[in-house]
Amino acid sequence: MSSVSVPPPKCLQKPLSVPHRHMFGPGPSNVPPRILEAGANPVIGHMHPEIFEIMSDIKSGVQYMFQTQNSMTLAVSGTGHTAMECAIFNTVEPGENVLTAVNGIWGERAAEMAERIGARINTIVAPPGGFFTNVEIEQALSKYRPVLFFLAHGESSTGVLHPLDGIGQLCHKYNCLFLVDSVASMGGAPLYMDQQGIDILYTGSQKVLNAPPGTAPISFSERACQKIFNRRTKPVSFFLDLSCLVSCRQELIITSHHYISNSVAEYFHAGLENMGLKLFVKEKKARLPTVTTIVAPHGYDWKEITTYIMKTHNLEISGGLGPSVGMVLRVGLMGCNSSKANVDMVLAALKDALKHCHKSKV
Ligand code: PMP
Repeated sequence: MSSVSVPPPKCLQKPLSVPHRHMFGPGPSNVPPRILEAGANPVIGHMHPEIFEIMSDIKSGVQYMFQTQNSMTLAVSGTGHTAMECAIFNTVEPGENVLTAVNGIWGERAAEMAERIGARINTIVAPPGGFFTNVEIEQALSKYRPVLFFLAHGESSTGVLHPLDGIGQLCHKYNCLFLVDSVASMGGAPLYMDQQGIDILYTGSQKVLNAPPGTAPISFSERACQKIFNRRTKPVSFFLDLSCLVSCRQELIITSHHYISNSVAEYFHAGLENMGLKLFVKEKKARLPTVTTIVAPHGYDWKEITTYIMKTHNLEISGGLGPSVGMVLRVGLMGCNSSKANVDMVLAALKDALKHCHKSKV
């Protein structure tokens, strides 16, 4: 005879309490009431006619946001990583060549995902804060002849916004699919999927879109679909196999809206420089407007600064990631968070932290 030996946990007997915070790190961002309310709608059956209508509206929204006519446009259940794997697992077969542009952690991660499914990995590497010219990209395409080229539009680990013009055309010249990660940039920096010749584009929900994490919009061009539907082998993931996804399930993204954060970013960058802080990305045009990387202030422990700001100002900013750890502070002002009032709040918090945190004399 079995009996309940694990009692109901005490912690679940009290009401859930989540604090209000200013979410000014590289994501997640704050979710405004309109979107929270959308998430509180009743659950109905996934085959009910209203759901098909909602899904179709969402598809139109993603097509608008991505600026694409692609019919293979949907939102997968999961975070940005899920969309990355969905893109790579469906378009690449074991033994095929993949090229990734590594100027931060996301290119490294895409390479690792492709490696795990048995692809041959080739990389072009730029130092943190750097990016690639079209000439460098063409040289690598012609040398490695990859089936897929990965590039992060917004490299959130280093704060670089990568130029995109002309790269799609180069990829197509070498019969290669152009895969772009816009998790940190979509909605905060201009991007035009069809015009820029992007074959696969994805983003996440919890950054500029100001929605909870867990839905990842993704779109595939006709060329990408041709590659996917003419595979010799099945993708390693059942859950992310697009041939199944397309016929039987499309998940939802609650909302989409378009914010262009450029003017706000310029205001923020000028404010930082006025305070004597330095921006990590030297070239102005390569600065990601949604995630700003600030050179870690000399003589301070970056962790003490972020901890102080969280404790004293109830505000999240973060340190570096991957190659930028210890080198930068990262501030994300995304979607509804992208306002001059919030810039002033962050600048005041930084000023206060520099005054109160320990500074070494050396
Ligand atoms: N790509 C980029 C550029 C990102 O900034 C992130 C999230 N920091 C991801 C991919 C992964 O997204 P997620 O955390 O939603 O899985």
